[in-house]
Amino acid sequence: MKDYNYKFNIMTLFPEMFNDFVSSSIIGRAVKNNILDFKIYNFRDYTLDPHGKVDDYVFGGGNGMLIGPQPIYDCYKDILENSGKKNITTIYMSPRGERLNQNLAKEFASEEEIVILCGHYEGVDERALKLINAREVSIGDYVLTGGEIPAMVLMDCISRNINGVLGNEDSSSTDSFSDGLLEYPQYTRPRVYEGMEVPEILLSGNHKLIEQWQKEQSIMITKQNRPDLYEQYKNNLK
Ligand code: SAM
Repeated sequence: MKDYNYKFNIMTLFPEMFNDFVSSSIIGRAVKNNILDFKIYNFRDYTLDPHGKVDDYVFGGGNGMLIGPQPIYDCYKDILENSGKKNITTIYMSPRGERLNQNLAKEFASEEEIVILCGHYEGVDERALKLINAREVSIGDYVLTGGEIPAMVLMDCISRNINGVLGNEDSSSTDSFSDGLLEYPQYTRPRVYEGMEVPEILLSGNHKLIEQWQKEQSIMITKQNRPDLYEQYKNNLK
């Protein structure tokens, strides 16, 4: 019987990069409480190369080295076997993938287990992606040295959408993007700091007026910082 809510299987050449991620802060607490489970596979352990190599030159030319299909596919088959499943949604972190956003994270959060492949160097052989039926996901239009940081971004974002991960179930409901708008400004004590006062309305105790103010602020900030989101928001109101 499974004793956790959600399982991440990560395929990487640099497992040590995940140590702090899985043991710190909100994610670390969710692991301790058996809500999240992380299984980290070093696919170098699966290579049949006698020298432990996993990469090679790129056919047709080009700079750098490409990770070959064999260690990835063998590692993937082992993950399926360990999970006792025929299929698990599998994601390859890739700058050419569909762009990560809140809706995509929610979609992945509705699964109970996923596999994430982290590339490195020039990336991975196309056949590996076919064999593991990978869906490619990008964290933005820039290129990083490896898929480990993107995988952590994705997992963090998914985790916030899994029941029990956040202490208070409501604490993600007012986050930016949750209603198509960016978050309004927030304040805590003291009421005055360096001569700057907390907006009077927030101290009024009038919840209706406070909500109205927060909404107006959200709309203003979205219009200013992300005109593309603001247009979408307006269109959805029509
Ligand atoms: N040659 C690849 C290309 O042009 O698309 C870039 C390879 S990149 C140097 C190495 C690895 O980092 C990729 O295989 C991928 O796993 C990861 N990576 C880099 N940028 C990323 C991004 N924006 N989103 C997700 N993964 C990324």
